[in-house]
Amino acid sequence: MSVGVAVLGSTGSIGRSTLQVLARQRERFRVVALTGHSNKELLAQQAAEWKPAFVGLVNGGTGDGGRGKGTSCLVEAATHPDVKIVVNGIVGAAGLEATLAALRAGKRVALANKETLVMAGELVAQAARAGGGEIVPVDSEHSAVLQCVAGRRPTELARLILTASGGPFRTWGPERVSRATVAEALKHPTWTMGKKITVDSATLVNKALEVIEAHYLFEVGYSEIEVVIHPQSVIHGFAEFVDGSVLAQVGFPTMELPILYALTYPDRVPDQGVRRFDPVAAGTLTFEALQPERFPAYVVGREAARQGGTAPARFNAANEVAVQLFLDERIAFGRIAEIIERVVAQARPGDARSLEDVLAADAEARRLAQEAACS
Ligand code: NAD
Ligand code: MG
Repeated sequence: MSVGVAVLGSTGSIGRSTLQVLARQRERFRVVALTGHSNKELLAQQAAEWKPAFVGLVNGGTGDGGRGKGTSCLVEAATHPDVKIVVNGIVGAAGLEATLAALRAGKRVALANKETLVMAGELVAQAARAGGGEIVPVDSEHSAVLQCVAGRRPTELARLILTASGGPFRTWGPERVSRATVAEALKHPTWTMGKKITVDSATLVNKALEVIEAHYLFEVGYSEIEVVIHPQSVIHGFAEFVDGSVLAQVGFPTMELPILYALTYPDRVPDQGVRRFDPVAAGTLTFEALQPERFPAYVVGREAARQGGTAPARFNAANEVAVQLFLDERIAFGRIAEIIERVVAQARPGDARSLEDVLAADAEARRLAQEAACS
């Protein structure tokens, strides 16, 4: 009997990669639910190919920005009785409710939507405990760490090192970076991804989000999570153990491997879909220290992580607003970090004990970010 899968955000980059993986694994998995936001045509094509029991279009052409009716279709897909695994490939805060609902319903969440864990890491962990669900990361760095630590006891793990490509502006001067265009920010050196995460990779906000994500996934303190710049994106993450030994996970950059592993974890299954690794073709691998003065938004994210409570939710919300304003060409690239910094400094610190706490912090940070952008 094949395992039922829901793909939330099936029209996006992660969603499309997931369907590519599933197409090669049809005897193991079947698609039970698909959701998209506004790309009606692609969703219809996918539905015609996969014939899922449930198809949800969040923004059904009504121009309501994906709220209201939309949210319920995500939760409906995520909790469908025939679904065992929910691949959450939604971008941003919009993915939170579906993750919580799926975990409460006892599902595995193959999580690409890292914003969910950043906003509400404690609540997500609680939902998993309460409902018997589990989170398995899709993010390549976290998949790498999981592959290194699988089968080990948590007390054996000493330190994590996440790699970062450094994005398109790694070698640019700060003044030039501050007026980078949208097209320049969207030219990622090693990965092809959705627009929001591509901009996050240029500011290195993505890596700050991933540090917080790793903290919740692997229950490691922030002082034991390091980041190193590795421009080739061949080593995805390192795990150091208490005896000083270090394991790393290696591969050419593709999301299909971490997606497949999140579906089959802890097992591995044969798959011929991805380019086999070749050390000679990979060439020289280099590592550089992350220079914090080049990536101010990353520094703000680490500070928000250290503060805890609702600070990560505020950091995430301010970033979502600032990135959208940048993509709409309403602010310069350099203002993204400035806006996030102002919002995180301005907002009142608070506990993130309930969903209401988190959503209130998210809403306040969005308002403050809009205000900061206009001033
Ligand atoms: P994308 O923009 O390509 O796709 C986003 C998907 O989310 C689309 O299907 C869209 O329809 C849906 N969506 C957008 N807004 C929505 C809303 N308000 N309600 C419901 N659905 C909505 O983004 P992506 O690159 O696929 O990234 C998705 C998530 O995966 C992000 O959290 C990103 O950080 C993470 N991620 C992506 C990659 C990658 O290679 N693309 C790698 C690691 C992690
Ligand atoms: Mg990543």
